[in-house]
Amino acid sequence: MTSQRTLSIIKPDAVKRNITGKIIQKFEDGGLSIIAQKRMLLTKEKAEAFYSVHKARPFYNDLVSFMTSGPVVVQVLEGDNAIQRNRDIMGATNPEEADSGTIRAEYALNIEANSVHGSDSEDNAVIEISFFFDPSEINA
Ligand code: ADP
Ligand code: MG
Repeated sequence: MTSQRTLSIIKPDAVKRNITGKIIQKFEDGGLSIIAQKRMLLTKEKAEAFYSVHKARPFYNDLVSFMTSGPVVVQVLEGDNAIQRNRDIMGATNPEEADSGTIRAEYALNIEANSVHGSDSEDNAVIEISFFFDPSEINA
């Protein structure tokens, strides 16, 4: 097993409902450690840039509005196989398809307001971590 780092975002729907602690508990119970964390309100420009891969998708504008609708908590999670492990803890994008016990099955409101983001590959984890964190902010 290799130790990896991945970028996690607790999305506005979850921050608004005051369930960041419940979500963090899922990460910690699943073997991931938070090695950096901050709360912020994303600007439209920052949300657009973060999700630019989805620019052509019909849900892009709504997604940017949602992601800027309230504060988010961005985190670097570390652990064995952290990228896939986090995706497993999160569950499927659509909460109706998410396995029971996953964050999205328990807490997501719908396919858009689905409570969490997690990097989907090693390359994207590196890009996404540097999008939000300076190396000096990450203390392993
Ligand atoms: P994931 O977050 O599971 O990696 P994607 O990268 O496919 O999923 O999509 C990014 C985000 O866009 C999702 O987490 C969700 O908030 C939103 N989204 C994805 N598909 C849809 C959809 N069909 N309708 C509305 N929003 C969507
Ligand atoms: Mg994705």
